Amino acid sequence: LRKTLVAGNWKMNPGSLAEATELASSLAAHEARDVIVFPPFPFAHAVTSVLGGDKVGSQDICHLDTKGAFTGEVSGPMIAALGIKTVLVGHSERRVFFGDDDDVVAAKVKQTLALDDVTCMLCIGETRDERDQGITVDICNVQLSKALAGIDAALMDRVVIAYEPVWAIGTGLVCEPEVAQDTHAAIRTCLAAIYDEDIAANVRVLYGGSVSPASVDDIMSMPDIDGVLVGGASLVPDSFFRIIRFE
Ligand code: 13P
Repeated sequence: LRKTLVAGNWKMNPGSLAEATELASSLAAHEARDVIVFPPFPFAHAVTSVLGGDKVGSQDICHLDTKGAFTGEVSGPMIAALGIKTVLVGHSERRVFFGDDDDVVAAKVKQTLALDDVTCMLCIGETRDERDQGITVDICNVQLSKALAGIDAALMDRVVIAYEPVWAIGTGLVCEPEVAQDTHAAIRTCLAAIYDEDIAANVRVLYGGSVSPASVDDIMSMPDIDGVLVGGASLVPDSFFRIIRFE
């Protein structure tokens, strides 16, 4: 059976190291289910010291190489050296604002899975326009197939998919649970086509996009939704604690 996972993507927040360690400390007291937070790079070391590497993820990874003349980049081995065990790849904000296209995303998946014992959380999802055109599943299939091209089946136990409809991110417009469920089921069908039924049944598929204390229980009641990737609400301790304790 798939284990549930609640992840908090802090994005470019909070504004200070003190706030970041305070947020991490408040979380450390909430031992419960599998929880991971993704702090910004400059805070990652401090947050890892508080929570331990199993509970901390990296928001990004350099797709080009493991070291060298790549100003501003952070390599896989540097992330692994902090004890971090998860890397977020393909977030729509990276795709939209920083030009991470499917080839870059695929290279980042490869760099992540080249690290020992590190999991890749791969984000996919359609825009409003694509949903209106009725091509949500096609978009997810293309993003999945391209990101996973050349990834051996044996590595798929270190891949988690996060389905994040772009129009639901930071908008307060949470995708209807049944609608999200249909897409999650379609993602498993796609995984079965790329790999096999066993992998499709075992890979965790999270939902992300305006998850809140008010919406989490209904989302988590869906059979193919294994967890949530939370943005804004992960910065508000009471909200995030309630989300972790979904029913
Ligand atoms: P919000 O929860 O703020 O909509 O963000 C979702 C997200 O992008 C998580 O990666």
